[in-house]
Amino acid sequence: MSLQDLLEALGDREAWRAHAACRGLDTKLMYPTTLGRAGDNNSGPAQARAVCNTCTVRAECFNTAVANDEHFGVWAGMSGRVLRAAIVRRQRELRTQEMAR
Ligand code: SF4
Repeated sequence: MSLQDLLEALGDREAWRAHAACRGLDTKLMYPTTLGRAGDNNSGPAQARAVCNTCTVRAECFNTAVANDEHFGVWAGMSGRVLRAAIVRRQRELRTQEMAR
């Protein structure tokens, strides 16, 4: 695979970002400094969640969080422990599916 092929493949994989409802918004909205602390068991600040609720690429966003094992920020309307638990659950499902092949 050439570098050009690789860049095109990566571009295709990330194309969903062009449709993200959070695109162009202040980064602090999706990466507030208080997220991820011990005791944070909510599913994300209400403002960020409201943006995610309007987003048409939540599934792609969550899949990217799973693939990258994201620990920080708001992804697909989740953050903190809720996001971590969802990612771990999905990673287990994917491993189980892979082993069943
Ligand atoms: S689901 Fe939320 S965090 Fe993910 S792309 Fe959409 S608005 Fe951004």
